[in-house]
Amino acid sequence: MVKMIALKCPECGSKLQIEDGHKECFCQYCGHKILLDDGNKKVNVNVINTYHKIDDARIKEAEVDKLVRLKELEVEEKKLNKKMKSRRFRAILGLSLLIIGGGAIILSRIFNDDGFFEYGFFAIIGALLVGFCAIIGDL
Ligand SMILES: [Zn+2]
Repeated sequence: MVKMIALKCPECGSKLQIEDGHKECFCQYCGHKILLDDGNKKVNVNVINTYHKIDDARIKEAEVDKLVRLKELEVEEKKLNKKMKSRRFRAILGLSLLIIGGGAIILSRIFNDDGFFEYGFFAIIGALLVGFCAIIGDL
């Protein structure tokens, strides 16, 4: 039968059960390496805690990465919002110009007035320009 020895992790204080005869073990809670003196079954707290430190550093690095990623997402979202707003504005502007231009041209036909036709012509040119800029801007 395998004899078990009980010991306490010197790093985190967790209670551990180790098979007798082992020269070293790792804490199952914090990953701490513990060297054992099996000569007189006494625990020799000869501690190498690099595992713990590496874990801490890794966790901190991951946290920083997460924060940076969140910040990047926030900035991207703001940019996207701005883009959507300006796109909506250009769409409304272009559509308004088209309606005004079309209306003016129809009025110029009804009243046989070339002045209306000119306004309509320029409004439609404006609408085309707005649409063109929107397409160029999105590229
Ligand atoms: Zn531990």
